[in-house]
Amino acid sequence: MKVFKFGGASVKDAASMMNVANIINQYKDLELVVVISALGKTTNALEEIAQDFFKQDLDAARQKIDKLEQQHETIVKELVKDADARIFVELKKLFNQLRQTNELFKADNFNFLYDQVVSMGELFSTRIIAAYLETLKLSVLWLDARTVVKTDTAYREPKINWEETRERILDGVKPQLGKKIIITQGFIGSTSSNHTTTLGREGSDFTAAIFSNILEAEEQVIWKDVPGVLNANPQLFPNAVKISKLNYEEAVEMTYYGAQVIHPKTIKPLQNKNIPLHVRSFIESDKPGTIIHNTPLPADIPPIIVIKSNQVLLWFSTKDFSFMAEKNLGHIIEEFSTLRIKTNVMQNAAISMAVCIDYNEAKLSELIHFLEPQYNIRVEKKVEVLTIRHYNDKIVTELTAGKDIVITQKTNDTVQFVYGKK
Ligand code: ASP
Ligand code: MG
Repeated sequence: MKVFKFGGASVKDAASMMNVANIINQYKDLELVVVISALGKTTNALEEIAQDFFKQDLDAARQKIDKLEQQHETIVKELVKDADARIFVELKKLFNQLRQTNELFKADNFNFLYDQVVSMGELFSTRIIAAYLETLKLSVLWLDARTVVKTDTAYREPKINWEETRERILDGVKPQLGKKIIITQGFIGSTSSNHTTTLGREGSDFTAAIFSNILEAEEQVIWKDVPGVLNANPQLFPNAVKISKLNYEEAVEMTYYGAQVIHPKTIKPLQNKNIPLHVRSFIESDKPGTIIHNTPLPADIPPIIVIKSNQVLLWFSTKDFSFMAEKNLGHIIEEFSTLRIKTNVMQNAAISMAVCIDYNEAKLSELIHFLEPQYNIRVEKKVEVLTIRHYNDKIVTELTAGKDIVITQKTNDTVQFVYGKK
């Protein structure tokens, strides 16, 4: 069996959805699970709607929901000609449910509210695709991913309950393979009390990997608007080149340092079952793209460049001039772990330590609150991290020219620079 994942860019309008249907149609005789994200920028719009509900600005929420509904409806009208088709009713029902957020859920826990609201995007998109595939006479099963992907209650960043999820996918999904094409949502799951959770932005890749792992897929394909995995973000580096082959380790390293091509949690479930991951273009869908599997890295791998912006640099030093030894380091790192803050660069010296993290005001103030009693903390906002894997002198000179570098960290295969953003 195969697992396909289509992201928001691949379903952004009616023409794109037709293209997706075309690709699915070519593989219709296989055992297939298709994981789909929300349309285009829908998730961003839903994030704003969640804020509105949280702030109790119900008028603003209503206006945005109306607009979103119109956008979805326009697409459905282009795809499904029968005005009485069930999809129109289904979509209306989902949008009305979204409108009732304030009556259905208490607005006191933002992360909880966020998940109830933001998860709707994937329900809209998958309903539409499934309805369209049915008009093409494909045999489709629309699966509510929340009935099988089970998580804990850490809203917005839950852990998967693998045991429960495995049981449900094997019982509920496996017997349908080959009979029907399974269309399901990326990004969403539910708790043991059936409250919806979301798996983190861009989490649909991870959802696909959960299905791949449990169903022991022969491959997972992530269909994207780029020809495969590139050595840099093509928006920042127009000369970026495609890499044909990568191994799991390199893919994990790239995503760990912030390459946005694949969600960081995607690789482990695939690596654990030795499942190849293909990253392919939905525009040039006959091209092979990039394959990531258990293979030595090609000798001619180009330097891989990742830039992470919106970073904060924190300098910690002890208040009494004592050494920044294991005990202090351990204490500081434990606080990061408790608050679930990922450290992007870390460097320590005799009496100080520097850590670079993603900027998040709420987490930052919490962290400072906990650590300030014992450490002097200096905060430098607006920094960026440049990471180069497989670097050489030329590329380092080129990319660091004119930058105000405050931290350099080098190993044999990776160099990182932290610098102020101008
Ligand atoms: N729709 C969600 C997002 O935009 C999940 C995904 O696209 O993978 O973050
Ligand atoms: Mg998306």
